[in-house]
Amino acid sequence: MTESNTIRPSGSRLANHVTLITGASRGIGRAIAQAYAAEGATVCLAATNREMLAEVQASLELPPERSIVMPLDVTDRAACFAAVEAIEARFGRLDVLVNNAGIYQSKTFLDYAPEDFQRLLDVNLFGVINLMQAALPRMQSRGRGRIVNIASTAGKWGSRNQSAYNVSKHAVVGLTRCVALEAAATGVTVNAICPGFIQTDMVENLKRGYAAIGGADGDAVVKAALARVPMNRVLEPSEVAALAVYLGSPESAGMTGQSLLIDGGMLLC
Ligand code: NAP
Repeated sequence: MTESNTIRPSGSRLANHVTLITGASRGIGRAIAQAYAAEGATVCLAATNREMLAEVQASLELPPERSIVMPLDVTDRAACFAAVEAIEARFGRLDVLVNNAGIYQSKTFLDYAPEDFQRLLDVNLFGVINLMQAALPRMQSRGRGRIVNIASTAGKWGSRNQSAYNVSKHAVVGLTRCVALEAAATGVTVNAICPGFIQTDMVENLKRGYAAIGGADGDAVVKAALARVPMNRVLEPSEVAALAVYLGSPESAGMTGQSLLIDGGMLLC
């Protein structure tokens, strides 16, 4: 892989790239795995549920040497370092790290227990820290690499009833800026994607959580949420995946430290 910003033909934009995608068992991570595989990448699929990862792997229909399933809890720091080491041992390098694994919980600030904050930070922030610290030195020693962190619109502004989640995503946005700055001269870029409402299990979770707090039914929650989205629709995971392809590819060589909104225009109003 060269670090020129040459645009490759569609279908080969990630050819010969070894990639690690966390949270690849469903939702946005699954869509990123599909998009990366379609662009020629070798994909290492990580999440805690081995069966669902195996299902994703089978659906990709890649030759055996282009995918592996890696059961991994991103809160387990030693396991994160071991996973990166295993990828390097098997494939010789890791070119792209996508930190997508995440959890969500709705509660009022006063109802969140310290343990709730801790759990959200452990997965959404420390999972990202663990894998970046495992992968970055190796990428830097080779003078190239891409790190793509999946943050959220919740990392850009305040929201009611999800303060712990927003704190974790603000932290990812801040961390992305700081690590990007430290890595900028080494050939490694670090960027974040901030999705708005994307149709996954997490949105179903959000509906249930908000309904439990406010007594509204799930559909009313979505209607109220969509009132803030000028495009008036929930986006598809594949739309986020397309941006993750760009940020993982040589095309984005000149961009680092950014947190890109893909939110149907939410921030405009
Ligand atoms: P999802 O459908 O709930 O999927 C979450 C993924 O994370 C699953 O693959 C899950 O796999 C994995 N995961 C959770 N805890 C993990 C852990 N400790 N270690 C490893 N993997 C773990 O959620 P999604 O909507 O696709 O969300 C993906 C990312 O996008 C998250 O970071 C989320 O915060 C962000 N995001 C989502 C939306 C949205 O509207 N959907 C909006 C903004 C940002 P296992 O259960 O198998 O571990």
